[in-house]
Amino acid sequence: MTRKKIVAGNWKMNNGLQETEILINELLAETNHSGCEVMVAPSFVSLKTAIDSLNDNDIEVVSQNVHQSNDGAYTGEVSAKMLSSIGIKTTIIGHSERREYFSETHEILKNKVDISLQNSIKIIFCFGEELKDRKTNNHFNIISNQISESLFHLSSSDWDNIILAYEPIWAIGTGETASSDQVQEMHSFIRNFIGQKYSNELAQKISILYGGSVKPNNAKEIFSMTDVDGGLIGGASLKSKDFFSIVNSF
Ligand code: PEP
Repeated sequence: MTRKKIVAGNWKMNNGLQETEILINELLAETNHSGCEVMVAPSFVSLKTAIDSLNDNDIEVVSQNVHQSNDGAYTGEVSAKMLSSIGIKTTIIGHSERREYFSETHEILKNKVDISLQNSIKIIFCFGEELKDRKTNNHFNIISNQISESLFHLSSSDWDNIILAYEPIWAIGTGETASSDQVQEMHSFIRNFIGQKYSNELAQKISILYGGSVKPNNAKEIFSMTDVDGGLIGGASLKSKDFFSIVNSF
């Protein structure tokens, strides 16, 4: 079964418009990325510029977040309907920074998933355990809970629009990467868990990305694991050379 291979760069709250334009021009100069789909997630203020610049290229511009309502009195928020109006086709939902700093619960994330799908926006759904969960051997419970609470109400056909990203919190931005065996063990667990709820056939089609200090020097080993279909890249996605070295690690 060949699943979609994807490398997505999450720029987080970095890069104003000028820096975005510089980075995009560097990305446009990198023409070799035939081994996988490439996505980048600039901040809201730069999305339209990024879309216009990357429109004819096969790098997809995706959103880092979305609100759970279509419109209304939610000062400072951006809806799926708005994202769709500028041509966004995919959004990240459930990043650990959103869960932790913005108190996004399973229920809120479930609503974000639903409103995105209603607006024909695909989802990169992130989840991951804290170090204390792994140390107490509770990591499989945490992960199954995060997935089931926000995604198991979906129909089988909805899953055509879901990409998963396993991101252990202790490995995000810390320089500490999960070992390739730890990543494979968790990805295989996730695929089985989805297979039990839906079907093995559906589970085999889901792209599961790994995120957490993926760098040019470890990407190849992580991406070589059977159940790893690519990566969600934070820090290293801000440097075009590093990002493309990761993109070309399959
Ligand atoms: C992330 O925040 O999604 C991430 C994986 O960050 P980093 O690559 O910097 O660990």
